[in-house]
Amino acid sequence: MAPDAPTIDEFRRRAADFISEAKTDGIACRAFGAIMPPAMYDEAKAWQQHMFASGFAGVSWPKEYGGQGYGPEFRLVWSEECARAEISPYMNFQGFVLAGGAILKYGTEEQKQKYLRATLAAEILWCQLFSEPGSGSDLVSLSTRAEDHGDEWQVSGQKVWSSTAQLADHGILLARTNPEEPGHSGISFFLFDMHGPGIDVRPLKQMTGDHEFCEVFLDDAPVAKADLLGPLHGGWGVATSVLGDERAEVGAAGIGLERATQRLIDTIDDSTDPVHRDRIMRTRVKAGALRQLLDRSEGDPKLGPLVKLGNTEFSTERTRARLDGMGPAATVLADEQVAEDFLYAPGMRVAGGTSEIQRNLIGERLLGLPREPKAG
Ligand SMILES: Cc1cc2nc3c(=O)[nH]c(=O)nc-3n(C[C@H](O)[C@H](O)[C@H](O)COP(=O)(O)OP(=O)(O)OC[C@H]3O[C@@H](n4cnc5c(N)ncnc54)[C@H](O)[C@@H]3O)c2cc1C
Repeated sequence: MAPDAPTIDEFRRRAADFISEAKTDGIACRAFGAIMPPAMYDEAKAWQQHMFASGFAGVSWPKEYGGQGYGPEFRLVWSEECARAEISPYMNFQGFVLAGGAILKYGTEEQKQKYLRATLAAEILWCQLFSEPGSGSDLVSLSTRAEDHGDEWQVSGQKVWSSTAQLADHGILLARTNPEEPGHSGISFFLFDMHGPGIDVRPLKQMTGDHEFCEVFLDDAPVAKADLLGPLHGGWGVATSVLGDERAEVGAAGIGLERATQRLIDTIDDSTDPVHRDRIMRTRVKAGALRQLLDRSEGDPKLGPLVKLGNTEFSTERTRARLDGMGPAATVLADEQVAEDFLYAPGMRVAGGTSEIQRNLIGERLLGLPREPKAG
């Protein structure tokens, strides 16, 4: 850790003051969860630039790559203070958590120099190009291929559900580099330039009405040799690490969870139907248990499946209870925020690995149960 690092309490105070001032000045960007809605691009970028210029972007990334060099506990404090103020801790989850985390762990010095500072400074927006029409939960079956053309790779295939791909400058991409090997040992991990030729990005409309994710068609799209991350044919190890970080990144979800639960409790009063009141109180108890779990997990990737499952299932339950509590008004989805939360929540049970897959991971990796049988 940097020798000039403040104490954790000092840092918390500084962060809270900085956020409060940025909110007063209208620079802080309101919280939007893991995926930046494309309509908030300008606002989120200006906030990211301000965080970077003020020393609050990448607080636990090394100084030589644009961070502050503080320990990982500082990052949690930063996320907590942002959650308390209901603002976003970073512009681009795919950049700071996924691509950034992978480059820090597996990148060459050249890759770190090229990408990390630029990501913190909002010069590069990232997307994640993993899922394909035939490969989501069973990601290892992916068929997008990268062929070696001597001085570069050329990638062909189709990706889907690629969040913010329509705005991204780079993507973290999985492609099969060894067609003879259909399993995980034929896959490589690339840092992919989204502005090159052979790329067709088509936004998809979600049930919220937004276009947050896209289909991405690749036709001999070039990748520089220097942009292979990790070992050739060894991309699955990098991807596994990225997926672990994705599940574990709940930041200060506990604070958001309590706030959202309190909002639900505020909707009941003495005239509330006792059955509904009982449901809300059961939801409250679950929220308490979940909060304990989140606090204990402290971002530990091993507990990621538990945290992700608990959090996203709970959000679905809570938003449903809120909507049911509205009675007939819910039929016209009178309250825009309630409707948005209700329609958004199910997607989070799927993004980053479905609830069923989290249950499999909990069974196999945490409880030591026998592995799921493979077909064939
Ligand atoms: C909002 C959102 C954002 C996303 N953003 C991105 C992104 O930026 N980049 C990216 O690469 N992907 C992204 N995804 C894709 C996401 O990772 C996949 O949707 C997810 O992994 C599931 O894959 P699938 O959609 O192919 O469903 P499938 O894998 O086809 O699953 C269909 C159903 O079968 C169940 N199932 C499958 N296998 C098993 C099993 N072994 N045991 C029990 N049940 C099983 C699943 O749980 C699910 O209910 C996003 C998805 C959403 C919803």
